[in-house]
Amino acid sequence: MTYVRVIGVAMLLLASAGAYADPCKIAIDSNDMMQFSAHELAVPTSCTDVEVTLRHAGRLPAKVMGHDWVLAKDSDVSGIVNAGLAAGLSHGFVPENDKRIIAATKVVGGGESTTVKFSTALLLQGARYVFFCTAPGHSSVMHGKFLFGDATRVAQAGK
Ligand code: ZN
Repeated sequence: MTYVRVIGVAMLLLASAGAYADPCKIAIDSNDMMQFSAHELAVPTSCTDVEVTLRHAGRLPAKVMGHDWVLAKDSDVSGIVNAGLAAGLSHGFVPENDKRIIAATKVVGGGESTTVKFSTALLLQGARYVFFCTAPGHSSVMHGKFLFGDATRVAQAGK
């Protein structure tokens, strides 16, 4: 079932972003209701770099309903969120020079988008990572799995 779901999400993403046929380029939407458009993202290990574009389809400004997209290990999420709160909006709720962060976009408000590109050199094949939003109170709802590996490995890691 997980396998089917991952494929479904991938197809939806492709359908919603025709230009993003490259599996190493991912687009994800967010909105005014504190939601990401996907709960699972997967990229093949053939990607040496991954490009993630976060779009905000809502209308609210960043200081009210801003979102970012941060990637880290599951065990590091709460620590990063707390450090992000301390850093505040002026730093996009992302702690500076935090080694636990694999990738992070800036915060976007309604109608805006942002892209981050990062190397997969530090990612372990088949390992499960978590993407999340560091805006205050958002990460409990705005999070999902990020899988680095082929579909078979993804299905196993997703359990
Ligand atoms: Zn958010």
